[in-house]
Amino acid sequence: MMDLKAALAGIALIEDAALVRQRSRDFFWFSPILERRLRGKSADIVACPRDEAEVIAIAAACARLRVPLTVRGAGTGTYGQGVPEQGGVLLDMTGLDRVLWADPARGARAAAGARMMAVEDAALAAGAELRMHPSTKRVATIGGYFCGGSGGIGSLLWGGLREPGNLQGARVVTVEETPRVLELRGAECNLVNRTYGSTGIVTEVEVPLAPRREWRDAVAAFPGFLTAARAGDALARSGLGAKFCDVLEDTAAIGLPPVLGVEAAPPGAHLLLAMLPAGAEAAFAPLIAAHGGRVTLWAESRAREADPHATPVYECAWGHTTLHARKIDRSLTYLQTLHPPGRLLETVEWSWRQFGGREMPMHLCFLIYEGEVAANGAHLLRLPADPAAAEARLAEIIAAHEAAGIPVANPHVNTVEAGSRHKRVPGDQLGFKAKVDPHGLLNPGKMASYAPVIP
Ligand SMILES: Cc1cc2nc3c(=O)[nH]c(=O)nc-3n(C[C@H](O)[C@H](O)[C@H](O)COP(=O)(O)OP(=O)(O)OC[C@H]3O[C@@H](n4cnc5c(N)ncnc54)[C@H](O)[C@@H]3O)c2cc1C
Repeated sequence: MMDLKAALAGIALIEDAALVRQRSRDFFWFSPILERRLRGKSADIVACPRDEAEVIAIAAACARLRVPLTVRGAGTGTYGQGVPEQGGVLLDMTGLDRVLWADPARGARAAAGARMMAVEDAALAAGAELRMHPSTKRVATIGGYFCGGSGGIGSLLWGGLREPGNLQGARVVTVEETPRVLELRGAECNLVNRTYGSTGIVTEVEVPLAPRREWRDAVAAFPGFLTAARAGDALARSGLGAKFCDVLEDTAAIGLPPVLGVEAAPPGAHLLLAMLPAGAEAAFAPLIAAHGGRVTLWAESRAREADPHATPVYECAWGHTTLHARKIDRSLTYLQTLHPPGRLLETVEWSWRQFGGREMPMHLCFLIYEGEVAANGAHLLRLPADPAAAEARLAEIIAAHEAAGIPVANPHVNTVEAGSRHKRVPGDQLGFKAKVDPHGLLNPGKMASYAPVIP
């Protein structure tokens, strides 16, 4: 530790054990299984670089002394993917927060620790907006989204982060005795996407932008879940240009009446949440009515985002549904499924009939997947309180879904492999890791199939 501190001289450090423990956590408490497994895991020290030169100095020191290094943005990841499991240095990137440029044609480039909201503001000022952002836009960093995120608000127009064209550039520092700085372009950016900071320290990212539009927050209430799901499917295919569309079974929507108000989110109703272009109301209301629902909210999106007394509807969607529901019922956790193109409604109905209602309150996030409409299930889950019984039941539910042809990304494990629907790390990511982290020091344990090149 003395050697490490000497090597990091001049860099702002946090050494207070309670603060270091606090920064070593993320939102893994969404999962009771991860909560048990990761409780108490902590870095030894937090380093807070102010620029890339300091990042390089920290990377060099860790490589020389063989100290584990875990990168952190805002710490909103939900899989414990930012928890340092083998101690060492936690690298807090939030000091690198400059938006470098935003331009409707060229996109936006920002330092990795910039909040997504700051990048969005710069884009708006230039007459553009982010193609997509997580529902945590106000706090998440753009580097954390790039390296740990999957999609979100905007993915119904543009697909997930991995769809071609959504990641434009990344600047990556390697963890070697003499670190190198690499520039990844286009599809190469997938080498650092969703690898949980195990394939290099990203110091800058570049994303394409969409033209700036005026959006409306919309909510509709339905008497039945399947009719609400069909309305969501119809909206996703309607050409109305929804930026997102989520459908929540009544039992999943329990957290929303206190957040959106009981007029917008009547208790006991199945809800459809969306953001739509300003001119879409005339077509939206009949689409909802045709499925037996009624529109309960239609409001200017940016005004709601700026109003300290209102919650933008996107902050009730994607991962936020679980957050709000857990505030009401701490026994709830969640499961991530893919209701695939071509079998979307058929597989939704299957899941609902098998597990929906009390055990698995259904939550669908419609999106474009490989060019077609699909839905991510971000279903809530009520597991038994007994830990062994909870794990056994989770395994049964996952196995049943996979046997029914519904891929699952298990959010109760924090390895890159288990969290992927394909259950493996692509070969090019493993090869890249060997080049940028030969000692295997970056976020050890997360890329489980990697064996260090140099011990
Ligand atoms: C309520 C809630 C809602 C959410 N909604 C969404 C959603 O809609 N869509 C979605 O995709 N996710 C969602 N998430 C997950 C998470 O908020 C996002 O993925 C977010 O973008 C992570 O950003 P962060 O700055 O908090 O990253 P962190 O949690 O700090 O980091 C995420 C991962 O990336 C790594 N990392 C961070 N910065 C860097 C860097 N500069 N270089 C290399 N590695 C790095 C970390 O080691 C970690 O493994 C949600 C989470 C919550 C709690």
